[in-house]
Amino acid sequence: SEERSLNFIEEIVEEDIREGKNDGRVLTRFPPEPNGYLHIGHSKSICLNFGLAQRYNGKTNLRFDDTNPVTEDTEYVESIKNDIAWLGFKWDKELYASDYFDQLYEFALALIRAGLAYVDDSTPEEIAQQKGTPTEAGKPNQYRDRSIEENVQLFEAMKAGTYPDGAKVLRAKVDLASPNMLLRDPIMYRIKHAHHHRTGDKWCIYPMYDFAHGQSDSIEQITHSICTLEFVPHRDLYNWFIEKLDIFPSHQYEFARLNLNYTVMSKRKLLQLVKEGHVESWDDPRMPTISGLRRRGYTPASIRDFCERIGVAKRENIIELSLLEFCIREDLNKTAWRRMAVLDPVKLVITNYREGQEETMHGENNPEVEGGDGGRDIPFSRELYIEREDFMEEPPKKFFRLGVGLMVRLKNAYIVKCENFVKDPDGKITEIHCTYIPESRSGSDTSGINVKGTIHWVSVPHAKTAEVRLYDRLFKVEDPSNEEGDFKEYLNPDSLQIINAFVEPDLLNAVRGKGYQFIRKGYFTLDTTSTPDRPVFNRTVTLKDGWSV
Ligand code: ATP
Ligand code: MG
Ligand code: MG
Repeated sequence: SEERSLNFIEEIVEEDIREGKNDGRVLTRFPPEPNGYLHIGHSKSICLNFGLAQRYNGKTNLRFDDTNPVTEDTEYVESIKNDIAWLGFKWDKELYASDYFDQLYEFALALIRAGLAYVDDSTPEEIAQQKGTPTEAGKPNQYRDRSIEENVQLFEAMKAGTYPDGAKVLRAKVDLASPNMLLRDPIMYRIKHAHHHRTGDKWCIYPMYDFAHGQSDSIEQITHSICTLEFVPHRDLYNWFIEKLDIFPSHQYEFARLNLNYTVMSKRKLLQLVKEGHVESWDDPRMPTISGLRRRGYTPASIRDFCERIGVAKRENIIELSLLEFCIREDLNKTAWRRMAVLDPVKLVITNYREGQEETMHGENNPEVEGGDGGRDIPFSRELYIEREDFMEEPPKKFFRLGVGLMVRLKNAYIVKCENFVKDPDGKITEIHCTYIPESRSGSDTSGINVKGTIHWVSVPHAKTAEVRLYDRLFKVEDPSNEEGDFKEYLNPDSLQIINAFVEPDLLNAVRGKGYQFIRKGYFTLDTTSTPDRPVFNRTVTLKDGWSV
């Protein structure tokens, strides 16, 4: 494949390597907070961090950013590891920011001893007020001048559990007049008497993101710490802590986060959808989570391809869901086995085919693969199911399917001609009567007849039933988070349609994790709830982009 041009982060890395920075070493990290399942946005960061390491002979750490005890859980840790591995990436070390709590505490003491941190008894409101505004400098309070001894003693008491939640915080003494509000004596530690999923009840003070992230990077000697644009204003503070502590100088670089239309991507919002029952679970096939996409039938290759195509930029935009769909179609077209399934059946009777007679037809698995990728037998008989939409009582011109007098090819079988049809008293069509051309059998057609249309079918006596789940986008609007009111008001009430379909018998051999193309109906995969006697198929995507108007 042809080589694309370097993205701006690759350019930085190449320059660092050229200049011999870090002895040419490249070490990145992927730092999820274990407070939810990974989503497609995270996969951009995963592909970027792991991709850089692969490209430049480096390594990537998986570091759980678990400094907030209240929202974090081991269920999330497990799902995150599973999803990264499924995407096809291997981390070097599995690490936890909470493993650095002792070291971070020592760092904090070092800053206190250097006169660069103080314990503040103010309430959050007072702190916010004293910080001033972007145009007006903040004002120091009486705690800012506490002696080093007093600060050490108070901070130790905070750690020992002497004070209730919120009674005191530890702040860095940076600059109350800085134009960057984040430098106006940011909070480093808060008191929270909460159980942590790894450290249990050992700690009742927890470091803030800004005092944990950069220090964790530095402890691990991360060379390129890549995060999303909202952290640009944090970079000064990231560098300030590293400089004042005189520790390994990791560097932070920012790129634009991935936004996708017709969905939401914040874990807080996704959690609401799960908790309030708008979707079944984190891995509901309508969710933008990695686990949801996997259950829907997305492949790791298609997601990696998507991340490659959207690229790495410094400006935010919203990516079309249709690009993600394009990527999975591209992949499945090459790998999915073709099968026949009728989703909305009507019976077709071949009046000149002997009753009780059967034939075995043959269909290749994938015409895109040389040799067809093998094939399967398909039973054929006098009565077939076809799609109701493939017949019209009064067909317009250029309708290349069935109507009285029209001919069509039955996929992998014969050409048939429609002679007649039967209606029930309500006017609903119940049977379509055809004759077949015996010389037109696929593979040995000597009929000389050319027909324009080919339709799929399933033999009635051989048909198996399957539950089929058809999905539409989860939200009715492109950017639900940007609409008035609650984002959940914009959920698409028709995002899931469950139907019973007739499928060819070979689909009972379908395997989990593999894609199948139901001819003319889209790509499907077995759902996790599928059982041998009750197969359940999820539609991954339609064959064509049906959403463009
Ligand atoms: P959310 O807002 O969904 O909770 P987060 O940034 O709080 O996301 P983290 O678990 O902290 O979630 O994210 C881990 C890494 O993934 C971070 O480096 C973060 O920048 C990156 N990331 C998260 N969302 C996106 C996104 N939409 N596009 C690209 N990278 C993302
Ligand atoms: Mg985060
Ligand atoms: Mg978050």
